Amino acid sequence: MKNHNLKSIILLALLALVTLLVLFLPVEGNIYIYILRGIVFVIIVWLLLFLKAGRKEDEEIRQGKAAVPVESAGYKTQQIRIDMQEQYDELLDSILDITRSINPEYKVAVYMVDPASKGFTLQKGATNFFSDFIPGDNKIVGSIMKQKKAIVLQQKDVREGWKPLFREQTWRGSECLLGVPIVYKESPVGCILMQIDHFSKILDHDRDILSSLGGIFTLGMMKIEEIEKLLTDSYYNARIANLFEIIDISSDENKVFDMVKGLCRTFFSYDKLTISMLDSSPTQAKIKLVDGLKDDIDTGEVFSIQSTLHGRPIREGRLIRSSYWEQSYSDAGRFKEGDNRSYNFMSILAVPLKVNGNVKGAIAIERLHSHPFTDTDQHLLELLGTTVGSILTWIYEYRRMHSSAIHDGLTGLLNHRAFMERFEEEISRALRFQQKLVLVVLDLDKFKRINDTYGHIYGDYMLKIIADIIKNSVRNIDVVARYGGEEFVVILVNTNKENSLPIAERITENIAEYQFDLDGVKTRMTISAGMAEFPMDADQVKSLIEKADIAMYKQKERGGNGVSVFPV
Ligand code: GH3
Ligand code: MG
Ligand code: MG
Repeated sequence: MKNHNLKSIILLALLALVTLLVLFLPVEGNIYIYILRGIVFVIIVWLLLFLKAGRKEDEEIRQGKAAVPVESAGYKTQQIRIDMQEQYDELLDSILDITRSINPEYKVAVYMVDPASKGFTLQKGATNFFSDFIPGDNKIVGSIMKQKKAIVLQQKDVREGWKPLFREQTWRGSECLLGVPIVYKESPVGCILMQIDHFSKILDHDRDILSSLGGIFTLGMMKIEEIEKLLTDSYYNARIANLFEIIDISSDENKVFDMVKGLCRTFFSYDKLTISMLDSSPTQAKIKLVDGLKDDIDTGEVFSIQSTLHGRPIREGRLIRSSYWEQSYSDAGRFKEGDNRSYNFMSILAVPLKVNGNVKGAIAIERLHSHPFTDTDQHLLELLGTTVGSILTWIYEYRRMHSSAIHDGLTGLLNHRAFMERFEEEISRALRFQQKLVLVVLDLDKFKRINDTYGHIYGDYMLKIIADIIKNSVRNIDVVARYGGEEFVVILVNTNKENSLPIAERITENIAEYQFDLDGVKTRMTISAGMAEFPMDADQVKSLIEKADIAMYKQKERGGNGVSVFPV
């Protein structure tokens, strides 16, 4: 894109120069210069139109009108596939070379099963002699595919099925065919055919050689798959390592899911990518990310994992893979019962996401057509699933530790240290937006008496209740913390003392009115509060706390149970 722009700019600059020279240089009636002017004019118009069209295309892709070139993102995987295609071609060539060395007169072809066209397609060989395609029900190829070794078939013995094999049909009647199946992972996937003018020319050892060629071909294919796996693996591992590098331990899980989307776009071709995670209930999952078709279900929606296809990897904790899921799995729908009737998704590859060893979600890629996902696709998605699972484990664990580090264990409020950090942040924010804020310092009245009279457990119980009362008396955006033993602080953001006074009073009143009762032991408690305002009373954290403290102690002097406002 940048390159394209640079080229355009250079081109335009050159053109402007030529135009200047040609259009504005004085000429005295030279006909060629007039023709040249005409040509330059046409080129400029054409170029302008061309550039405009190019921009429009980019714009459409940006706006999502044109299809996202998902495949183009997979440059590297495509490169690997191209490399593999070369390997495969070489394998075919070497097979053909060997057969030619047996007897240069033998005409050879390698056919492979093509499930899409329900027949055998010519991979390589005497292309002017053998047909490009042999129907799957051909008797001759059919009987070769059933063998374990090479067999000889003669026209005089087998009457049917010869015609579809060859382009030219000039028979003498003495021709025969030597054929061997290509077996891969224990099933026949193709065959090597050799046509010989006369069966008398076939030497016994030719047949043995062809038999072993079938085996060599199988080995070659296995090698290619191995190499492909290694290549994609090493590339993939590099990308995964990168994933660990990019993702910070304190990252949001959405950032991880975005990364997954990026990788999936690189590795697979799909019509829909769905990442779902178990929601608050163990039978409901929430869609965390969708890429591709969004009409059926989109981010934020919730679905039941019971009896749904997308719930399957989560409830069973296993990979699912099918190119015709309705036949492979018994689920009543993809996200809900019957939704398969509206959307014609056929192929699916999905892996569970395990966090800390427990299945918590799934990554699924789907295609609208019955186009199978390959072993390599499966391998990649499994690796991706495992990696994302460990990254999430890592992030959640960090989040848990971080949360317990910043919160007070007894009341669940922010602790002293976290409060101080947060206070600095709030002051900076208020400064940036030129807002005011109010700090309220609260200290329980004669709390020591409670411990002395009812014991520590009772004291703890009261502290928990008081924390809840304070928290519930303010807005969500306000910050509540346990400053010390029986001292609390509240930051009321974007407000002044005048507007905050009723809030502080509500806190003290709510506490004074509360009937504490633990195991039938009933008592009451009061609290003293002091308020100071930023930046009016102080513009630094430390001094603002000091001012609010002064007000709070003044309230104690006044008998507690209430609010005093700085200056007192
Ligand atoms: P004042 O009205 O002057 O504030 O008197 P006070 O008794 O509330 O103040 P003081 O500072 O003398 O005592 C605070 C008491 O709070 C002492 C301590 O036992 C109690 N305390 C502090 N933290 C906890 C806690 O986590 N649990 C319990 N049960 N008590 C605590
Ligand atoms: Mg105190
Ligand atoms: Mg106290």
